[in-house]
Amino acid sequence: MTDKEQMSLFALTPSEVPELPQAEEASEALPLKKTSRSTKATATVAIAVPVDEQFASLDALREVACNCQKCPLAATRTNVVVERGDRNAKILIIGEAPGEQEDLSGLPFVGKSGQLLDKILESVGFDTNKDVYICNTVKCRPPNNRVPTEVEMNTCKPYLLEQIRLIDPKIILLTGATSLKSIMGEKRGISKIRGQWLEWEGRLVMPIFHPSYLLRNQSREQGSPKWLTWQDVKAIKAKYLEIIGADSLVVDEEEEF
Ligand code: SF4
Repeated sequence: MTDKEQMSLFALTPSEVPELPQAEEASEALPLKKTSRSTKATATVAIAVPVDEQFASLDALREVACNCQKCPLAATRTNVVVERGDRNAKILIIGEAPGEQEDLSGLPFVGKSGQLLDKILESVGFDTNKDVYICNTVKCRPPNNRVPTEVEMNTCKPYLLEQIRLIDPKIILLTGATSLKSIMGEKRGISKIRGQWLEWEGRLVMPIFHPSYLLRNQSREQGSPKWLTWQDVKAIKAKYLEIIGADSLVVDEEEEF
């Protein structure tokens, strides 16, 4: 697949562009800056989910989360949105919160943003049904797609931390400012830190632009958010292939690139 063909997989028509949560847009509208591809150690806080909030399995987590009333979002949701993808995946992708389509379907990233996320992943040969596991920072839709509050994020965080522990991914992708803040406590804007390999709890973490931001920035020019994301997803695929072994790297390179 040529570079041009690969970038074309990111394309959606303007009518498919969804509304973007305000805070997400504000944080991502910071000036773009080149970032390092090297893995950087970052100060981390040990995961400390209380024993009574830990789960023996993802099925047990799902059952409890689907009946959760712990924060105000329970009052306005249609469905609790816990997960999609493969529970054995080496890559875990964390978004912000369910939107309208996710709330209705009970699945994360199934609206326009989710369709673009799938296209991005597929452009480098990932199978979104078996290579990734996808979830959100909070499991219930905030009214009018607003950004989740600190209270909502913190109340829901044990579910997220338990998902990470039970999936045990090698790579975590943080899409947008909210998941970056929830996991890394990072206050810098996503534009300043995207594309960098960070380390958190012994895992490789890369912040990337939220797909909804890319839908509102359609340019594919060098240095544009889409172009930068294309560089990021290629780096992610290369790291993934490195993790699963050199033999796979040879086979996949011939098949996908
Ligand atoms: S967002 Fe999380 S903590 Fe709040 S009600 Fe839903 S599952 Fe419970």
